[in-house]
Amino acid sequence: MSGTFVGMPAFPEAAREAVDNQTLRGNLRHATHTIRAKRAKAVAEVSDWAQLREAGKQIKDHTLRHLDRYLVQVEESVTAAGGIVHWAADAEEANRIVADLVKETGEPEVVKVKSMATQEIGLNEALEAEGIRAYETDLAELIVQLGKDRPSHILVPAIHRNRGEIRDIFTHEMSEWGRPAPEGLTDTPAELADAARLHLREKFLRAKVGISGANFMVAETGTMVVVESEGNGRMCLTLPETLISVVGIEKIVPTWRDLEVFLQTLPRSSTAERMNPYTSMWTGTTDADGPRTFHLILLDNGRTDTLADEVGRQALRCIRCSACLNVCPVYERAGGHAYGSVYPGPIGAILSPQLRGTASAIDASLPYASSLCGACYEVCPVAIDIPEVLVHLRERVVEGGPVTRDGNKVVLKPAKGHAAERAAMRAARWAFSRPGALRTGQRLASRTRRFHPRTLPGPGGAWSDTRDLPPVPAEPFRDWWQRTRGGNDDKGTAK
Ligand code: SF4
Repeated sequence: MSGTFVGMPAFPEAAREAVDNQTLRGNLRHATHTIRAKRAKAVAEVSDWAQLREAGKQIKDHTLRHLDRYLVQVEESVTAAGGIVHWAADAEEANRIVADLVKETGEPEVVKVKSMATQEIGLNEALEAEGIRAYETDLAELIVQLGKDRPSHILVPAIHRNRGEIRDIFTHEMSEWGRPAPEGLTDTPAELADAARLHLREKFLRAKVGISGANFMVAETGTMVVVESEGNGRMCLTLPETLISVVGIEKIVPTWRDLEVFLQTLPRSSTAERMNPYTSMWTGTTDADGPRTFHLILLDNGRTDTLADEVGRQALRCIRCSACLNVCPVYERAGGHAYGSVYPGPIGAILSPQLRGTASAIDASLPYASSLCGACYEVCPVAIDIPEVLVHLRERVVEGGPVTRDGNKVVLKPAKGHAAERAAMRAARWAFSRPGALRTGQRLASRTRRFHPRTLPGPGGAWSDTRDLPPVPAEPFRDWWQRTRGGNDDKGTAK
């Protein structure tokens, strides 16, 4: 079983350990810089990238605005095509539905396509508790599972591992899960891939139940879409007799025409490919081909709460390309585990606190896990303004205190901590709304500048220990402006 994120400390504490780990930083720097450069090249090839980005944004916004209607359409289309639709309000319900469905088949094991939604709900652990073994079949997910590790990247969950570490994991752990690694396995990519292929092949051929997520659901026909690079997904989606797909309710696109936009932007943004090597699509069940039974579990798990927030809802546009992770200077140094969630990096910093609420230390700290440089927004293929949402969530943490979910209701609890910050903000509001007092304060500060300390007292010391306090000028800017330019008065009107 993979490790879990339960009980993670706040981001600054978790990140400190990662920042000190030279191997991890080296692995991350190499991987993110490589993917980032390739992505930039792949995007530059497309002359209408800006229009595609805007189209993706608008399709997602439109769908989210009419999500109630499109969800019903998906249910009708999937049912008409021979599938069975289930609704899950939260992780517990989704896990229970999946476990019951697998038990009905009498099978003790399942094969899995890489899926963020099933990681989000901790499905592998829930199945394990019911005596069902789930085998991850994506290469990176396999490395994470064999290493009893946690994923640290959306697209490349084992990005924190180098080839030598992967060879050691395969050599020591594969035999516990099935076919052992070949004798004398080296760390060359071809040998590692071959060992994984042999190990997984017996599982594909034996499996009677497959579990997947979906990158997209096309409402007009009830078609599920999975894009991938290795072909393991195609095996899991076609060989087993029963297929169970757990899909977040935000994954809908209304029509095939809409899908076309994302099939152009997703591969270039994620793997820097012009198109995905494998694009698998299925609509219910088909006689004499593929699974005999298809179950779709539509997962909420905090998404309708997120949808209720006018600023925060844009996070639901995300198509999980991971471009924002690969350009983020904070992610590059802190690594994925510090975010305490299967969604690391900039998107994790805005998605996890909305899906889970900000009651825990880690979730309340995530909106601060950013320098607000804006690189994530620049590369996002659906134009999610991540810095805007981060600031919005910071406001929520400081002003409203932790937000927890109580059933379907968002409840504001009284804030603990941040008292000094709130007091400082109140003082600033008082001063900035009284121009006369502000001017007197600025003049006083200029006249007494020689006596100002070079470091801040109390908790402010942590800030000034690593920075120089900006010197107060000999003359306030407004006085200088009036003296030299005959400028504006305090009301902003020209004299
Ligand atoms: S927020 Fe944008 S850039 Fe980041 S993973 Fe989602 S779609 Fe990709």
